[in-house]
Amino acid sequence: MALARGYAATDASKPLEPFTFERREPREDDVVISIKYSGICHSDIHQARNEWGNSAFPMVPGHEIAGIVTAVGSKVSKFKVGDRVGVGCFVDSCTTCASRDVDLEQYMPGLVPTYNGVEADGETPTQGGYSDHIVVKEGYVLSIPENLPFEATAPLLCAGITLYSPLRNWGAGPGKKVAVVGMGGLGHMGVKLAHAMGADVTVLSQSLSKKEDGLKLGADHYYATSDAETFKTLAGTFDLILCTVSAEIDWNAYLGLLKVDGTLVLLGIPEKPVPVHAFALVPARRSIAGSMIGSIKETQEMLDFCGEHNIVSEIELIRMDQVNEAYERVIKSDVRYRFVIDMATL
Ligand code: NAP
Ligand code: ZN
Repeated sequence: MALARGYAATDASKPLEPFTFERREPREDDVVISIKYSGICHSDIHQARNEWGNSAFPMVPGHEIAGIVTAVGSKVSKFKVGDRVGVGCFVDSCTTCASRDVDLEQYMPGLVPTYNGVEADGETPTQGGYSDHIVVKEGYVLSIPENLPFEATAPLLCAGITLYSPLRNWGAGPGKKVAVVGMGGLGHMGVKLAHAMGADVTVLSQSLSKKEDGLKLGADHYYATSDAETFKTLAGTFDLILCTVSAEIDWNAYLGLLKVDGTLVLLGIPEKPVPVHAFALVPARRSIAGSMIGSIKETQEMLDFCGEHNIVSEIELIRMDQVNEAYERVIKSDVRYRFVIDMATL
């Protein structure tokens, strides 16, 4: 066992605080990673505050990890000391079931989340990226392209893949009209990725306050959802709408923005059920769907795509002791567009 330092939530109602815990010694197929940067995802906040009702404490959040390999087990062949690597939302999964074969392991019950989960042994709690190092099986470690600025790659490991996967699955590309609802951590990555794939991109934000940024990042159009005219102007427009909002919104109004055969994909996870009127779906053969992160194979494909297209996150780099203040700012939609913790400040 090796001691690790980090920041943990010890209770749903308390701020995060310094925390020391143990990481396992590397096994033959493990990679030891010195964590350099850790992104703050809104899911970290949902879980640190037990908003999904499934939190175990103490909890070291963080599933947008960028770091350097410091040691490898004897059977590791893909990575060597000094490599720039990433770890995303999960660190183990079923290895035998069919979904692993088709690279959909993120949807399997055997998935081991990077934190707030339990390892395959059924008892050791997993702890995440707000820490100095992590030990991860080789098969769950990603390579980060050398040309990308390191600190801004951390958010690709969750925000990036969460948007990349549905864009690919629903065929975003030239001739397709894609809307991204919410210009936050996930949303701004959706704008960049959909633009790079050649789609016509619209941002649907609560206000026009981030319009200039949205257009700079690759949006072709930008509308405020607080303006009722938006829903009239854009009725029947989109092939695909990716919704990153976790608040209660008027789902039927958003469905009305889809073309015939269009799909609304939920990425944000509201606490309450989503009420949908049959008339919002039936007369235009529309679908409503959900999507969660992506497989390891697809995450590597996304990182390589970002390397080719020079895509990283827009970030605000913060010190570890600013994490609680950063959480408050994320909740107020006051982040441009992802907080990343500089782990050297731990
Ligand atoms: P975020 O940075 O806080 O972005 C969410 C955006 O939603 C905000 O920037 C804001 O955009 C919009 N918004 C906030 N409150 C709203 C309200 N009351 N009404 C309408 N729009 C509102 O969060 P994030 O890190 O991108 O995560 C977003 C959600 O996705 C969270 O629920 C998170 O848990 C979930 N998530 C899901 C997956 C997955 O695999 N499906 C992965 C990661 C995260 P505007 O200011 O532009 O309106
Ligand atoms: Zn996340």
